[in-house]
Amino acid sequence: MSYDPVSKWEEFIRSRYWDDLLKLAESYPSTRSLIVDFADLDRYDTEFADDLLENPDVMLDAAHTALQEIVLPVDVDLSGAHVRIVNLPQHLKTRDLRSDHIGKLIAIEGQVRTATEVRPKIVRAAYECQRCGHVFYVDQSGTKFIEPYECPNEACDRRGPFRLLPKRSQFVDAQKVRVQESPEDLRGGEQPQTLDVELGDDLVGRIFPGDRVIINGILRSYQRTTQSGKSTYFDLFLDGISIEMMEQEFEEIEISPEDEKRILELSRDPNIYEKIVRSIAPSIYGYEDVKEALALQLVSGFSKRLPDGARIRGDIHILLVGDPGVAKSQLLRYMAKLSPRGIYTSGKSSTSAGLTATAIKDELGDGRWTIEAGALVLADKGIAAVDEMDKMSPDDRSALHEAMEQQTISVAKAGVMATLKSRCALLAAANPKMGRFDRYEPIAPQINLTPALMSRFDLIFVLTDEPNVERDSHIATHILKSNYAGELTSNKHNSSINEEEIENATEVIKPEIEPELLRKYVAYARKNVFPMLTRVAMERFKEYYINLRSQGQDGNKPVPVTARQLEALIRLGEASARLRLSNWITEEDVDRVIKIVESCLKKVGVD
Ligand code: ADP
Ligand code: MG
Repeated sequence: MSYDPVSKWEEFIRSRYWDDLLKLAESYPSTRSLIVDFADLDRYDTEFADDLLENPDVMLDAAHTALQEIVLPVDVDLSGAHVRIVNLPQHLKTRDLRSDHIGKLIAIEGQVRTATEVRPKIVRAAYECQRCGHVFYVDQSGTKFIEPYECPNEACDRRGPFRLLPKRSQFVDAQKVRVQESPEDLRGGEQPQTLDVELGDDLVGRIFPGDRVIINGILRSYQRTTQSGKSTYFDLFLDGISIEMMEQEFEEIEISPEDEKRILELSRDPNIYEKIVRSIAPSIYGYEDVKEALALQLVSGFSKRLPDGARIRGDIHILLVGDPGVAKSQLLRYMAKLSPRGIYTSGKSSTSAGLTATAIKDELGDGRWTIEAGALVLADKGIAAVDEMDKMSPDDRSALHEAMEQQTISVAKAGVMATLKSRCALLAAANPKMGRFDRYEPIAPQINLTPALMSRFDLIFVLTDEPNVERDSHIATHILKSNYAGELTSNKHNSSINEEEIENATEVIKPEIEPELLRKYVAYARKNVFPMLTRVAMERFKEYYINLRSQGQDGNKPVPVTARQLEALIRLGEASARLRLSNWITEEDVDRVIKIVESCLKKVGVD
């Protein structure tokens, strides 16, 4: 190094961060961090900035010393303060970490999956020698506790016994979190990889399972142990330096000016609804009404804060119940892939956290409680596609009410308490209790879900599998064609098949709007369009709702009609207007919504 890092830091802070330092000095010790933007360092001195990335331990130590040495106009000792670097130039994915990265300052992007409770961690252990009474300190920097070997008092020099003095030792708050790759970064079917992160002091308690974050830190490794002793393999963890929150749900989708032009053009197409419906799961035949509802779910309504602080969700929850083999799972998988932040999971979920969240004691916490996020938390601001929901655990069953309506999940177990966010739209599928629907009995009792839970869905579709020669023949043609369409297009030189036949076969499964553009369209709508009710639309919804209520009074309706349904109508209306990027919910939207709601009610109802 061609310079003294401590004076370099002093110079840098004096010239670029003086005001921030003064602010820190004033509020210290209740705030303890000087946040430094890496870009400022880079502009100040590129070599200095590069050295920080390459040798973060040395450089951050120097920064810490500089903080203490700078002469301040106020008399405070900043020895407990930290320099926290944010905005690193490059973000890595867990799967790209290599041994070269060990010891370097890196940024990891992902989603918090689990977080332990906050507990003190010893950083400087005070010992008393029981032979001579000498008191000395052992610094604890690693993950393993270091005990003294012999008394440092030369006159004594004996090997103990020593007594730990907790009151004279130094502790910091510590927390471990496990970060996993975000669903949108995974290509079809890949399992997300995780990285453990250690956080200390004022970084603890700030992030929760489900949060999307960038964590900057120093990558470290530790040796694994197996039953037969130490292993030659090492594991990685990140020693956290700073945290940045990623709040914008659609920032990961870039919309160029050309994209915007195409989006606006599409929105003016009079057949936009048909086009979008034909772009949803084109390999599945029929179900136009379901697909229209799924299109509405993609854009959803928007959440609102009422003047009294209450919140109304904007996400649309949809339930598909039906006989086996009617393409429920297929639809769910398609939507999870299409949605910008979609997750596909099963009610019988493989993870211990299930659909909602759980508190467990596991190896991550070393005996501490750990909160783990389930699918609805991980799908925050996206779509959670939950297959076989009727088979979920009893814990999930009870937590789901809150998760769907308030869109939060409260965990309270053995002193750990947390409220996680689950602002996602739920797309669920369930099979009938007895395997197949009995067509001559009412539908609702044949589903293993309570009325309270069912009433939280905005739309419930019943898909029965009744033989119908005409429809069956269409489905058969459709499946047969789409099965070989991929083959045909990739194998065009096969001369025995002519172009026309290829056209014929591929047209059925080609989405009208390609998924990439549709995703951008949805992101654009959700970001920019917040439709309001026109007076006519308001009157129409009111009239329809009152009508529903009076019909619902006959007492044997499986799903009671409550004010929830009115909220559902509004949400669906908003989504309908959003789909054509309109700022007003008009009669056209009301008609569409009523048509969809009616098609659901007819089947769920007793008739
Ligand atoms: P479920 O989850 O309802 O039991 P699946 O999604 O597993 O059913 O569907 C079974 C198979 O039948 C899938 O391969 C699906 O593509 C096919 N299938 C069922 N209905 C249709 C349809 N309407 N159009 C195209 N394929 C269908
Ligand atoms: Mg299925």
